Amino acid sequence: MKRALVWFRQDLRLHDNEALLDAIASADEVFGVYVFDARTFKGKTGFGFPKTGAHRARFILESVTDLRKQFRQLGSDLIIRIGHPEDELFGLAKSLKSHWVFCNRERTQEEVFVQDELEQRLWSIGQEIRCSRGKMLYYTADLPFPVTHTPDAFSQFRKETEPITPVREPLPFLVDKLTALPIHLDAGEMPCLKDFHLSEPAESFVPGGETAALERLNQFLWETRSIDHYKESHNTFSGPNCSSHFSPYLSQGCLSPKMVYWKVKEYESDFGSNPSTEALTHVLLWRDYYRLMGKKHGNRIFLRHGFRDREVTASRDWDLLQLWILGKTGIPVVDANMRYFRRFGYMSDRGRQLVAGFLIHDLKLDWLFGAEYFESQLIDYDSCSNYGNWQQIAGIGPDQREERNYNLYSQAKRYDPKGDFVRSCLPELANLGGAAIHLPEQAEKQVLQEAGIKLGTTYPYPVIETDRWI
Ligand SMILES: Cc1cc2nc3c(=O)[nH]c(=O)nc-3n(C[C@H](O)[C@H](O)[C@H](O)COP(=O)(O)OP(=O)(O)OC[C@H]3O[C@@H](n4cnc5c(N)ncnc54)[C@H](O)[C@@H]3O)c2cc1C
Repeated sequence: MKRALVWFRQDLRLHDNEALLDAIASADEVFGVYVFDARTFKGKTGFGFPKTGAHRARFILESVTDLRKQFRQLGSDLIIRIGHPEDELFGLAKSLKSHWVFCNRERTQEEVFVQDELEQRLWSIGQEIRCSRGKMLYYTADLPFPVTHTPDAFSQFRKETEPITPVREPLPFLVDKLTALPIHLDAGEMPCLKDFHLSEPAESFVPGGETAALERLNQFLWETRSIDHYKESHNTFSGPNCSSHFSPYLSQGCLSPKMVYWKVKEYESDFGSNPSTEALTHVLLWRDYYRLMGKKHGNRIFLRHGFRDREVTASRDWDLLQLWILGKTGIPVVDANMRYFRRFGYMSDRGRQLVAGFLIHDLKLDWLFGAEYFESQLIDYDSCSNYGNWQQIAGIGPDQREERNYNLYSQAKRYDPKGDFVRSCLPELANLGGAAIHLPEQAEKQVLQEAGIKLGTTYPYPVIETDRWI
């Protein structure tokens, strides 16, 4: 009897899971394991933010619970451990006398470190780690260039890949070799947020798990047909269907990008393609692009100076950073997005671009401050997408575009024309009408008075000069 362990990480699903299928193809008995890595769930970022904030921790807990439920429905169980994966998996491999540990390969430094440590230890007992490749939309083997030659400019990457690179069909759903755990083996208890010294957030953006992910896919496509409006609506700041909200599911692997792609194709064969359905498959390429940049350039995607050869100087003013985090900068569109972010752990793409551009180019703060705060807070944190997007906005990414220095007043009027989003997030401005909602200091004194606003008291004066935006 050959036994295999499948080590689940950011691939919390049964569908289209290459590591799981490779294990099933190689072994007679397959057991699934998830380890809550104490370094990730209790550790801090370089600037001292919790590495995994409460929103994402809860989402992961829900996703692992859902996976365990599916394992149980199939007559097996998902083994849960808390600790260091290289210790826990080694211990399990030894006691279960397995032959291999299968996983989907990760490429960024912390994950690779753990992978390598585990491999070394498995070798000491004559076992092996086998890494599969199921993370991206494209397979690197199908790309028209070697990974090291991936174009650094996104537009070039897209031009060279999209017309000729196939997207493979999702792998079939085969789970016949998931077996009941040996009687002596303790499957382990699910931890809760308190175990990671985190408290339950009051609000939830989306529920975690593969089941919820597949429901969301169905809802966004067939049930509401919101995909048909994606091109126009995805730049709005909030709304249940303004964009797909697939990102938390894609980041934790509850949803496979190939599954999304092929479901969109199925939708197109039912209802026809249109610029919106095409736009959704197009944005999925950004995810692959940042992952490939991570593969090609390694740790450079995390460096302060990024792809510039000189050091980037920027302030580390903690007081200013705090105003940005708390949504008290006096720039309504920034404050509204940042407060929404604290409530839900999610922010729209447009919101992210604006608050990141503001931190870097207006507050002139170190971009790593912002990137690490996002890492902590985001429900959909993905190391390559997060650091890649921040570098891009700072103008130090591999794609050497111009820096994104936005006119926030015009952006706010364009993407929140009636000010509804700002008003819903900033109750202190709720009675202010018209364009003044986006720059209250421009409003007549009497208008402010009638709206019950006293600048500097009920709502802050802007922390920067805003004249250049008018
Ligand atoms: C500063 C900054 C930080 C970001 N950090 C992350 C992050 O940690 N994790 C993350 O998934 N996305 C990140 N993004 C990209 C983007 O904002 C989110 O993917 C998007 O807002 C998620 O919402 P959605 O699923 O509704 O997106 P949709 O617009 O519906 O897009 C569908 C999917 O395409 C992918 N995608 C879309 N835009 C991008 C992009 N610019 N870069 C990479 N993938 C993209 C995502 O997987 C997304 O789920 C960041 C963007 C910025 C500007």
